[in-house]
Amino acid sequence: MPPHVKETQAFEQILRITWLGITINVILVAIKLTTGMLVSSMSLIADGFHSVSDLISDFAVILGVKISRKEPDEKHPYGHGWAENFITFFTAVPLAAAGGYMVIKAINSIARQEITKIGFPVLGVALIAIILKEFTFKITKKAAVQLSSSMLYANAWDHRSDALSSLAVAIGAIASMFSIRWRL
Ligand SMILES: [Zn+2]
Repeated sequence: MPPHVKETQAFEQILRITWLGITINVILVAIKLTTGMLVSSMSLIADGFHSVSDLISDFAVILGVKISRKEPDEKHPYGHGWAENFITFFTAVPLAAAGGYMVIKAINSIARQEITKIGFPVLGVALIAIILKEFTFKITKKAAVQLSSSMLYANAWDHRSDALSSLAVAIGAIASMFSIRWRL
């Protein structure tokens, strides 16, 4: 198989995986924000906005792939592989920010024991998010290793950090359900 055919297939696979991530993020934004607003759960709404920022970095990956796959031209004799490094950087920054944010949020929601009258819907949405994100993490990481794409690898770890962020929401919801029970 000529190298450029193999490369095109790799690009197509990166795009497919990224579009799957986008689909899951769209679903998560919808259910987190809707449920979060319905039961006024600040942690779920914050988590929903985090998924919105993930969607933005997903589109940056799509853009990076489209630029990388362009043939080398006069101005860029070495091709456009630099775009991949550039986009990796932009995916890594929100990843680091998300990590710090997650820790603060977990401490906050436990400290405040966020009072939610209906903890079960929040817990349900958080569990759905954890399952979907772990699944996305696994298949994205597998593809990243196969295709040796640093861009996909960074995005895979962001999916895992999203799962952990929703885990913090789940812990907060459980804590709030117990605090209600203690009062009764
Ligand atoms: Zn994220």
